[in-house]
Amino acid sequence: MYIHNLLYNNYMNALIVKAKKTHTLTEDELAAILSDDTVNDELFKSADKVRKEYAGEEVHLRGLIEFSNICKRGCLYCGIRSANRKVERYRLTKEEILDFANKAAGYGYKTLVMQSGEDDYFTAEILADILHGVKKLNVAVTLSIGERTLEEYQTLKEAGADRFLLRIETTDEELYRQMHPNMSLQARKQCLYNLKEAGFEVGTGCLVGLPGQTAKSLARDILFFKSLDADMIGIGPFIPNKNTPLANTTGGNFTLALKVMALTRLLLPDINIPATTAMETLDPNGRIKALQSGANVVMPNVTEGDYRRKYELYPGKICINDAPAKCRNCITGKITAIGRTVSSDYGFRRRKNV
Ligand code: SAH
Repeated sequence: MYIHNLLYNNYMNALIVKAKKTHTLTEDELAAILSDDTVNDELFKSADKVRKEYAGEEVHLRGLIEFSNICKRGCLYCGIRSANRKVERYRLTKEEILDFANKAAGYGYKTLVMQSGEDDYFTAEILADILHGVKKLNVAVTLSIGERTLEEYQTLKEAGADRFLLRIETTDEELYRQMHPNMSLQARKQCLYNLKEAGFEVGTGCLVGLPGQTAKSLARDILFFKSLDADMIGIGPFIPNKNTPLANTTGGNFTLALKVMALTRLLLPDINIPATTAMETLDPNGRIKALQSGANVVMPNVTEGDYRRKYELYPGKICINDAPAKCRNCITGKITAIGRTVSSDYGFRRRKNV
């Protein structure tokens, strides 16, 4: 038994060393690491080293504006799904968006992320008009507004949007179908290819802990990120929302989400990886732990007033009563306390030879 454990540990450690050196692992190797907790510390430390070497010591802050919680989709896990009658819906005006953007630029944010449900009111033309205003502030802009046509993506790119976040959520065909009524994995992948064609820096990612999701399926998600050559990957634990059909499911676990994130850093060493808000919901120090296990980005909320609370994807969202200035100071303090610095540039992906 002892010999067996020793050999097994050697094997698991060898996998981490391989990932660190070659930035490759097979599906089975990824699944083995995800299914076992004996080398978690080595994994997190290696991801931290690779982050330091390829992405540097700076942490990029992106100010998040949640500009509409109106959504036509029915994603089973999501609190702003159209069938949820318990959400008070809102849509910010152009003036409100520009006001929040202006204040965020004033706090020193170099990137703003504009996120919403899939709200058809915001046509590409309406968004283009808003983007022209936001871009006058000298910031990089990321959109996270869901699935659109290639032509719409092109219009948004031409209007000045630089990046786009569209999580694949899961690459497991069957699970994808169960979670997303009237949507398809193929269509979502096509959106990611179209975003690349339109010239965006492309971010994707997955939820960890969806009902029935397996280690193999998460391993395939990571390999998909690599094959797409994504510029950003956001990984978050699934947190059940009581006003959704998944109310009574268990949800994701912080450590597993952190492991998926750390493995993503090992395989895609030079990309941008956020320490996600959902991680902080499950662990009070979650974002700092993530920054020390491969992440190099944080996305503080710059939405003001009651809107923060109403944009409720999942329960326990952090800082819903805080003002943007407080969030900025709070996160800067935490980042400097671990010996890292807040970047003052736009934080585009810096490609390195891998
Ligand atoms: N409508 C946009 C933005 C979606 S909201 C789009 O389609 O891309 C941003 C992310 O929140 C989603 O991609 C999803 O991964 C995450 N999310 C939604 N519900 C969640 C939940 N219950 N727990 C954790 N994350 C959730």
